[in-house]
Amino acid sequence: MRCLKCCESKKIQVNPYEIARLARNLGISTTEFIAGYTDGNGTFLKFDEQNRCTFLGPEGCLVHADRPLVCRLYPLGRHFNDRKEEWFSEIEPDTECRGEYGDDTSIENYLAEQEVQAYTQAADSYLDLLWEMMNLLEETADDEGASADSGSTSVDERDMPENGEWLDMDMAVRNHCLRKGQPCPLDLDEKTRMHQEVIRLWIKQS
Ligand code: SF4
Repeated sequence: MRCLKCCESKKIQVNPYEIARLARNLGISTTEFIAGYTDGNGTFLKFDEQNRCTFLGPEGCLVHADRPLVCRLYPLGRHFNDRKEEWFSEIEPDTECRGEYGDDTSIENYLAEQEVQAYTQAADSYLDLLWEMMNLLEETADDEGASADSGSTSVDERDMPENGEWLDMDMAVRNHCLRKGQPCPLDLDEKTRMHQEVIRLWIKQS
């Protein structure tokens, strides 16, 4: 039995791959998706006044085929230990949950049924890039005091992607292709690879 409570009162965080999958599902660009369907500058799905996910319909998820990773995993939580080994926990159901949790399958089978592989790969590679960017910004903040007197270039003055390109795959890929004078890829996997390459290039150049 489904009660749809798991799509209420949550914060559904999304990464650029998840945004791109959902945007493609709706037939719009990631720029339009971020503006219309997310909060926190593109980091969370919008929830309505009743605290229900913007994609929750009377019969369930309206974007089921492209729902984010956290929705696919539920009621599992995905974690990593100090050695970067993946492990899963079972999330306590909502107190008002009327759904039935089955325990007649293995975690491996459940993950395969939920088709999480493309999502976990994308989540891991974007997370690695995010850590690299955070380290870079921290190093830059440390250096800025020292460089202020010497007139060195700060991170903001370098060839930094436009604001929002970290999350907005279509904008980043379009700007990159315009700069390079090359056609934009249409395939989502190729766009994802190019988006990550753009971010990686910027980190290397900084
Ligand atoms: S995206 Fe779909 S499954 Fe995920 S919270 Fe929203 S309605 Fe529920």
